[in-house]
Amino acid sequence: MSRIVIVSLGLLVSLGLLNFLIWQPVVQAGPGELKINFIDVGQGDAILLKLPTGEDVLVDGGPDDTVLTALGQLLPVWDRELDLVVATHLEADHITGLISVLQTYQVKEVLTPAFQNDTKTAKAWQEAALKAAKINYADATDDYVWGEVVWDTLWPLPNADFSLESDNINATVAQISYGDHTVLLTADADSQVEQQLIALYPGLTTEILKVAHHGSRFSSTTTFLQAMQPDVAVISVGRNSYGHPAPEVLQRLAAINAQIYRTDQSGTIKLILSSQQRRILTDG
Ligand SMILES: [Zn+2]
Repeated sequence: MSRIVIVSLGLLVSLGLLNFLIWQPVVQAGPGELKINFIDVGQGDAILLKLPTGEDVLVDGGPDDTVLTALGQLLPVWDRELDLVVATHLEADHITGLISVLQTYQVKEVLTPAFQNDTKTAKAWQEAALKAAKINYADATDDYVWGEVVWDTLWPLPNADFSLESDNINATVAQISYGDHTVLLTADADSQVEQQLIALYPGLTTEILKVAHHGSRFSSTTTFLQAMQPDVAVISVGRNSYGHPAPEVLQRLAAINAQIYRTDQSGTIKLILSSQQRRILTDG
């Protein structure tokens, strides 16, 4: 083979690869689809929303840098920008990975609880967030609209007391809606918060529920689950010493006929919502 032929072949292969890299994410996303990836980060939460209008939103970052590898796989290679990063509350299993995310990605805005937490991780998060992005301190007035996707922050209420002992009390709870689809992200909210949500938002239901606090028995009460009526329940959980997910929570979810997905069993759970349908893909 002459050198010209070899060079031409090389060029063709390179162009083919480039074409694949450029179009693959476009084909994968599909038109009009909202993709919500419940990333398997072990014991913690990390949820990537890929919006039909092109924005990327990350909710929590898990307990270590696992989230970076996952983002590398879920986002196009050239995409190093996140439109919104949400820290639901300042505990290590939610914000540790976010610190690395802020150092690696260009982040337009951060939605975070007020920085009233003295742990080393919370301080590091505060420092990274203040340096990296525009800060929005979360409360129920913080809503976002991206095309037909709406992010409605339900909790905490404005002027919440962030000096309280437990961060879970003021964890950001939000409902995302897209057409007829609704997804409730409950962070590590406990039964007190659940009770408040029912009282504050009569008639609130959800198609998909991110089960609170990794399936802790102190959340997901029967009253709350019966009110929400989720078709699908996603539990973000890994190896832990707390007994998450609690067998009684799994029973309560089964009792309302929710389809249960767990990141410790299925890996990253990909929820794909379009106006016509709902699809769920798992690694397992
Ligand atoms: Zn947690």
